[in-house]
Amino acid sequence: MADATLIKPDLDFVKGVISSGGESLKKCYQCATCSVVCNVTPDNNPFPRKEMVWAQWGLSDKFKGNPDVWLCHQCNDCTAYCPRGAKPGEVLGAIRKQSIRQYSVPGFMSGLVNSKIFFPIIFLIPALILLAVGGFNSIPEGEIKFTNLFSVHAIQFTFTPALIFGFAIGILGLMKFWKDMKQTGGVPSGNLTGSIVETAKEFLGHSRFKDCTVSRDRFLSHFLVFYGFVLLGIATAIGVLYIDFMHVESPFPLVHPVKLFGNIGAIALLSGILLMIVNRFKNAAKVGIGSYFDWLLIFIIFTIVVSGILAEVTRLADKAALAYPIYFIHLVFVFSLFVYLPYSKLAHIFYRATAICFAKYAKRQ
Ligand code: SF4
Ligand code: SF4
Repeated sequence: MADATLIKPDLDFVKGVISSGGESLKKCYQCATCSVVCNVTPDNNPFPRKEMVWAQWGLSDKFKGNPDVWLCHQCNDCTAYCPRGAKPGEVLGAIRKQSIRQYSVPGFMSGLVNSKIFFPIIFLIPALILLAVGGFNSIPEGEIKFTNLFSVHAIQFTFTPALIFGFAIGILGLMKFWKDMKQTGGVPSGNLTGSIVETAKEFLGHSRFKDCTVSRDRFLSHFLVFYGFVLLGIATAIGVLYIDFMHVESPFPLVHPVKLFGNIGAIALLSGILLMIVNRFKNAAKVGIGSYFDWLLIFIIFTIVVSGILAEVTRLADKAALAYPIYFIHLVFVFSLFVYLPYSKLAHIFYRATAICFAKYAKRQ
C-alpha cells in the first residue's frame, strides 16, 4: 500500500483569506469552470481552480513564490461563471493580500494598515508627525501660500524619507518574492532583459485588462489612475526643478507646466477612482463589493485627489480658513500613501509586474 501523505492545513492562512474577502472559498466543488473561462491563465497548469483547492486545504506553502495568483487581474470572468458562487476572482484577491502581508516587514505594520479597528489611528499617526514637523499654531495671514503652513524644506524633510521607506520595504519584499519564485519554479531559462522590456510594454498599455469580458471597465479605470499618478509625479519633479534648482517660489500660475501636469493628472486620477467606485457597485451582485483592503486604497486615493483639488480651489477663492486645513488633510493622506505603500493594495502593482516578468522569464505564457 502506498504511503499516506499527511496534510497539515494552515488554519490561520484559511482564516486570513476568509476574513479578507474570500468568505465564499468553501463553496468551491472543484468543477474547473473558472480555469476554462479565464482568458489570462496559461494553458499549462492553469489557475484559479488549483489555487481554490490549495486555499481550501490551507496549503499556504503552495502560495509561497507563486506567480500565478499575481497573473490574475481580478476581472472576475471566473466569478461570473462559477456555478457555486465561490467567487474565485475575489478569493485570489484575498490570497494576494495574504501574500503582501507575508512579504512586507515589519509584520505588525501590515496588521495595523489592514485592520478596520486601526482605521483612525493609521491617519492620526501621520497627522501627528506632520503637526510636530510643521509646528502649526494658527492659520497664516495674508496671501495664501501653502509654503507658509509647511515650508519646502519641511516637505522634503518628511515626504522624502516616507517615500524612501515605502519603496525600500517594497523592494525588500519583491526581492524575497523573486527568490521564492526561483526556489519554487526553478531557475528560468528565458531572457531576463527581454522579459523586463516586454513586461514594461504590457504594463504601460495595461493590455491584459483588455482580455476581461465581465468587467471591461477595469481597463479604463486602472489606466486613468495609473497615468494620473504618472502625471502627478511629473508635476512634482518639475516643481522640484523650479523650486530647488531655479529658486522660483510657489504658487505657480495655472498655465505653468507644474499646474498643467498636476491638474490634468488630478482629473485623470479623479475620473479613474470614481469609475472604480461605480464599477464596484455596478458589479456588486455578481462579484461582491470588495474587502476593507480594496476600499482603504480607494479611500486614500479619493481623499488625496479631492483634497488636492479643493485646496487649490479654496486658495484661488482666497478662503484661507478652508484652504490651509484642507491642504493639511491632503498632506496627511499623501504621507499615508507613501508610508503604507508596501502594506496596502497599492503594492499589488509592483508584485504583479514582478510576477508577470518572472512568468515571461520562465516562459510560462
Ligand atoms: S471556484 Fe467555482 S468554477 Fe472554480 S472550481 Fe470552484 S466551483 Fe468550479
Ligand atoms: S479573476 Fe479573471 S484573471 Fe483572475 S482567475 Fe478569474 S478570470 Fe482569470
